[in-house]
Amino acid sequence: MAEVLCVGDLLIDFVPTVTGTGLIDAAAFRKAPGGAAANVAVGLARLGVRSAFMGMVGDDPFGHLLADTLRAEGVDTSPLRFTAQARTALAFVSLRADGEREFLFYRHPSADMLFGPADVDTAAVEAASVLHFDSISLASENPRAACLFAADRALAAGRMVSYDVNLRLPLWSDAATAAAGIREGLRKAHVVKLSDDELEFLTGSREPAAVRSTLWHERLRLVAVTRGAAGSTWLTPTAQGDVPSVGVTAVDTTGAGDGFMAGLLAGLLREPDALADPARLDRLCRFANIVGALTTTERGAIPALPTRASVEALLAA
Ligand code: ADP
Repeated sequence: MAEVLCVGDLLIDFVPTVTGTGLIDAAAFRKAPGGAAANVAVGLARLGVRSAFMGMVGDDPFGHLLADTLRAEGVDTSPLRFTAQARTALAFVSLRADGEREFLFYRHPSADMLFGPADVDTAAVEAASVLHFDSISLASENPRAACLFAADRALAAGRMVSYDVNLRLPLWSDAATAAAGIREGLRKAHVVKLSDDELEFLTGSREPAAVRSTLWHERLRLVAVTRGAAGSTWLTPTAQGDVPSVGVTAVDTTGAGDGFMAGLLAGLLREPDALADPARLDRLCRFANIVGALTTTERGAIPALPTRASVEALLAA
């Protein structure tokens, strides 16, 4: 049985073979299996946590390639659905020379957008200790209903719910709808991760204290604010701590947040009592920081996600 069930998007990113090339100028692309929730599932598996993935792909070569990729990583794909009604989600992604990321999504609609409450494997939700989801799913009607339904089932079964704010503004009709949708996701969760950019989007402030003054609710046990190379800040109902990251040579930040999320959940599963102890929370975030940092040292998300051994080697250094 999986310890963490990740629900959300599983798609192929097409990335220009030459970095710094815009989507229009790119002469060739390479396939990069990904999707935030899928990256977290793989990140957990590499850290030795039993993970499962729930979502929907097309019954087409890309869908099967994605399922095979997750299985090869040891992720349980039994809750993954295949549909003949739509094609697997695809995205064209480029990191332009000016450092801006460009996205173009195939969504007419893609299979992930058809994933609805009837497709939720409730037995898998109730069997896992943690349900993890993010706001990419909340941007479209069916997966939003599916995720909120799955979260309610997990809560009713007494499971932990984890949520990554993971704002992708172009997926939403407008900023106000995105902010309202994200707050709905937040309300379901015990554990939340967001970046300082997302914090500013939601609250107007980049200060982690803004989490407490404007986003806090009774169910929350742990919030982690990520700050890129500067590390992260954890907040519990009664305490807060800043944890610096480690120095690495970053070549591609894709998936750093997903790696961090996997590290945070892996740490929490190993040490559930850490929530009551600032020193252990510092260590937990340091572990997650290292997972995020190592994810930036190679191109792509899935190829770069580190193993537990490489994280522990840096932790001990
Ligand atoms: P996101 O992908 O959500 O924007 P961040 O870029 O904040 O997330 O990265 C997540 C975490 O990964 C950070 O909190 C930090 O711990 C680690 N990290 C990211 N980039 C670097 C970097 N260049 N050097 C060291 N650590 C990093």
